[in-house]
Amino acid sequence: MYPNVLLLIDGVWTEAASKKTLPVVSPATGEPVGTVAHAERADLDRALEAADKGFRVWRKVSAFDRSKVMRKAADLLRERADKIAPLMTMEQGKPLPEAKGEVLAGADVIDWFAEEARRTYGRVVPARADGIYQLVIKEPVGPVAAFTPWNFPINQVVRKLSCAVAAGCSIIVKAPEETPASPAELIRCFVDAGLPAGVVNLVYGVPAEISEYLIPHPIIRKMSFTGSTAIGKQLAALAGAHMKRVTMELGGHAPVIVFDDADVDTASKLLAGAKYRNAGQVCVSPTRLLVQERVYDRFVDGFLQHSKSIKVGNGLEASTTMGPLANPRRIDAMQTLIGDATKRGAKVRVGGNRIGNKGNFFEPTVITDVPKDARVMNEEPFGPLAIISPFSSFEDAVTEANRLPYGLASYAYTRSAKTANAIAASVEAGMMSINHHGLALPEVPFGGIKDSGYGSEGGLEAIEGYLNTKFVTQAGL
Ligand code: NAD
Repeated sequence: MYPNVLLLIDGVWTEAASKKTLPVVSPATGEPVGTVAHAERADLDRALEAADKGFRVWRKVSAFDRSKVMRKAADLLRERADKIAPLMTMEQGKPLPEAKGEVLAGADVIDWFAEEARRTYGRVVPARADGIYQLVIKEPVGPVAAFTPWNFPINQVVRKLSCAVAAGCSIIVKAPEETPASPAELIRCFVDAGLPAGVVNLVYGVPAEISEYLIPHPIIRKMSFTGSTAIGKQLAALAGAHMKRVTMELGGHAPVIVFDDADVDTASKLLAGAKYRNAGQVCVSPTRLLVQERVYDRFVDGFLQHSKSIKVGNGLEASTTMGPLANPRRIDAMQTLIGDATKRGAKVRVGGNRIGNKGNFFEPTVITDVPKDARVMNEEPFGPLAIISPFSSFEDAVTEANRLPYGLASYAYTRSAKTANAIAASVEAGMMSINHHGLALPEVPFGGIKDSGYGSEGGLEAIEGYLNTKFVTQAGL
């Protein structure tokens, strides 16, 4: 049922020139389920040539007609959701309903950018003298190289792909080798919808080899990366050395501030739901839960109760509410971070262990009494691990929230409008969600500040990242 995934170059699904493949391993069983083609220099050269050619064709297609192709791709994705979702679960591990939700949300992303790109207006700037016309024009930036990770195999690709295609760019997607089939099916929807050959190309291989070749290449005018801050900094430096436009969506360590006037039961329920979604492998996952002293015990009790109700298992089974971690590296990371924290005095309140020895299953885990110098208080856990700590004053909570170099998502719970406004103004983050979880919709900005990156993956700001601004002034007509 799981395919041998191919490259897409110049509109043709193809093996690598070398015929090399990599195995794809199920995170639930540890067994290989299929293969993915492994691109090397010769394949990348063909993809670059195709992207160059595709851009020349696509930039001349009107935004009105580009949007028609995109809407058709979105419809195909919806039609195929029931076939694509199991592939995602097999390769990534997440429960089937989460996988299907991701596929359908991908179709919404395509639709929204298809519409929004029709409104990438320029403007007319009034001139200082008669007979002069000053125009501000938006043009596609050119062929894009996009690098996406394994946690949301479709969502991470669809945001970059939709922006690029809507803006009139071509794109080479380097999708995740560990979860290759579902992003390939997403891209197939664009191909089947009639996107001209070369506008989208898909490769897999050794990530560092591909980025080191594509980013400096003169054909590529922009790169977009989602992944860890450490790799993001390397790639941003490379892009800077070659003056390439960049969008960077990197790591986070989201603070959550629960004030003592909040609806504590709702907060613990919503936050536990958010924490264990995708087994915590989410850049906006709530991680440092800071709870005001008066309601701390009640919040911890509620959160523990929800954590214990999570049913861990193979994502293909209907009863599963949390699947395995996506790869064995995450199990190692969980064990290391929890071991380090307990050595420094932290208490494991629930979970803390791997489940079984087949597949990458790990218990939903809550730790308290964690000192600030524990690694987990400073490094993104990227797993089903919540840290709960008490705070006394507004200022204490803000100081802790802003302590880390990350600035991606943040959350707060309060019934006071004054406190809500004050906390939104005080936390250094690209996004804040108050009293609910309302991030990551296509129509709103999505991105970080500080070491979490720059640029946006949502809203009209996202399209701006794929456009050049040209000024034209005319006289004497
Ligand atoms: P990693 O840091 O090596 O890789 C992260 C992602 O970057 C992967 O998709 C990988 O293929 C890609 N990558 C790595 N080196 C690259 C290079 N030189 N050029 C281009 N792409 C490159 O390690 P990992 O084990 O896959 O993930 C570890 C950490 O990455 C996680 O703990 C988390 O902090 C972060 N991460 C973040 C996101 C996110 O949504 N922001 C997604 C996945 C991983």
